Amino acid sequence: MSPTALDPTPGHTDSFSLPSSTTGVDQIKVHPSARRSPEGGLIKVESDSTVYEEEGIRAKFTDRGAEVVKGADGKLTVKKTEKNFEFFTKSKVGRVGLLLVGLGGNNGTTVLATHLANKHNVSWRTKNGVQQPNYIGSVVRASTVRLGVDPETGKDVFVPISDMLPMVHPNDFVIGGWDISALPMDKAMLRAKVLEWDLQRQLIPLMEDVKPMPSIYYPDFIAANQADRADNLIPGDDKAAHLEHIRADIRQFKADNQLDSVVVLWTANTERYADIIPGINDTAENLLKAVESSHDEVSPSTVFAIASILEGVPFINGSPQNTFVPGCIELAEKHKTFIGGDDFKSGQTKVKSVLAEFLVNAGIKPLSISSYNHLGNNDGKNLSSQRQFRSKEISKSSVVDDMVAANPILYKTAADLTKETGEVVKKGEHPDHIVVIKHVPAVGDSKRAIDEYYSELLMGGRNVMNIFNECEDSLLATPLIFDLAILAELLTRVTYREGSSGEYQPLYSVLSLLSYMLKAPLVKPGTDVVNSLNRQRNALEQFLKACIGLEGSTDLLLNTRVW
Ligand code: NAD
Repeated sequence: MSPTALDPTPGHTDSFSLPSSTTGVDQIKVHPSARRSPEGGLIKVESDSTVYEEEGIRAKFTDRGAEVVKGADGKLTVKKTEKNFEFFTKSKVGRVGLLLVGLGGNNGTTVLATHLANKHNVSWRTKNGVQQPNYIGSVVRASTVRLGVDPETGKDVFVPISDMLPMVHPNDFVIGGWDISALPMDKAMLRAKVLEWDLQRQLIPLMEDVKPMPSIYYPDFIAANQADRADNLIPGDDKAAHLEHIRADIRQFKADNQLDSVVVLWTANTERYADIIPGINDTAENLLKAVESSHDEVSPSTVFAIASILEGVPFINGSPQNTFVPGCIELAEKHKTFIGGDDFKSGQTKVKSVLAEFLVNAGIKPLSISSYNHLGNNDGKNLSSQRQFRSKEISKSSVVDDMVAANPILYKTAADLTKETGEVVKKGEHPDHIVVIKHVPAVGDSKRAIDEYYSELLMGGRNVMNIFNECEDSLLATPLIFDLAILAELLTRVTYREGSSGEYQPLYSVLSLLSYMLKAPLVKPGTDVVNSLNRQRNALEQFLKACIGLEGSTDLLLNTRVW
């Protein structure tokens, strides 16, 4: 251990003169986002529809909706619908592994460093004073849900999302992963230049022995400028052998660490899109055959996804490429395992999904949205290559589609345009939308995102809004990685049945409940994508409530509207 080394026992706090505790992490000194739930959980619902059993929580839930039918006269008939469900959530979380593809990258190293700093309660000095580790930016760990009202005071009661159901604490993940770069994790963290030096120096002894497992590298899929870091490779070019190798890695990691479950998450370089070719990647069967024949269009990320599906572990794609070709989705459906993607929604897109929704829902009409980014990290270097940029451009481009389509007052529909022009138009009116990304090494991980919103106002007026957003890229993405892994693991423990008899079954394979954290949410084929951040958060919140038998929107606050 180096002279600046940290005592790796939990409970230690260090930054030169700070005292260290030897008796485990003192909860008072822990940041609220890293605190643990009380034994047995914080919340207990007292209701006939919620039963706490030895194995888990059983809850009845009625899904209320409306069917809307348009008559020949254009008038709408609305029928109320109701469907009864029962959810069962296993309460034992167990030991959970988190395997990152791209462990040695900026996100991968920041995830491991954040986990270790919180686990060992390592504080560090900055020019502003002593900084405590935390999970700020994690919607699960650092945001709350309104649970109800305190009957005595009449005040709202809020609880952390992490207390809604039994969830893994991010300090408890067992973290490992793969990288095509062999650098051990301490050196990879130094290379990433994300965290403060006083933190890095304390984490070095905890990270120097962690080495990424060798990975698969098909140079055609990522930028040529990445070739010089590819020195940690599974040999050969037989994709079937690669698949077996990754499957064996997952099994070995699970066995070595006595894990109950594992989540695999892609935070490696953005790949180019794979061509969708009938007979190759259009069905599960064809995709497996394409792996057998080492077909050129099978990407590394798809090999990782297939390996995870076949090992029965969730796979999340944090990058924009089309890892989930149709055959891959079908394979997950067949095996009833879980997939989620695509592309972390960390900065510009998150703001855009809020701002565009605000404008359109305010009855203001965005005419154009122009987005520029420059960043200086390795992600930016990879994205300076045209085919990889194209994946990002596609992922960023559809974020306002559903909000625009939801307002036919402001935007002409495809049917309106077809009528107007006499030609068949497939897409309705839409704001002009461009995305530019440039690599500027000097700014490192501190991405600059500049967006102009140009909108139509009352009586032909115009409005320009400019946003300048300096995003600490990996510090925004890292909490999302924890959220995605925590929620994916939770969703593997939730089963449901319709009505109140019959077998419980797992949720549908594509975990669209993760949409809040993802730029281009993957959804059940044939269903609409929801990009609105508010709707995504509401869906997550209401689902967690449904699992403990709570229903309805709490924002009605009817008691404040009546006598
Ligand atoms: P990075 O370039 O620092 O890290 C990527 C790592 O993946 C590198 O260490 C590289 O060696 C490794 N790698 C490449 N191909 C691999 C393979 N086949 N197997 C294993 N490892 C491989 O990038 P980053 O900043 O950590 O971002 C990671 C990914 O997340 C990028 O695709 C990026 O577009 C995406 N993303 C990041 C953010 C964000 O940071 N805010 C937001 C959205 C999406």
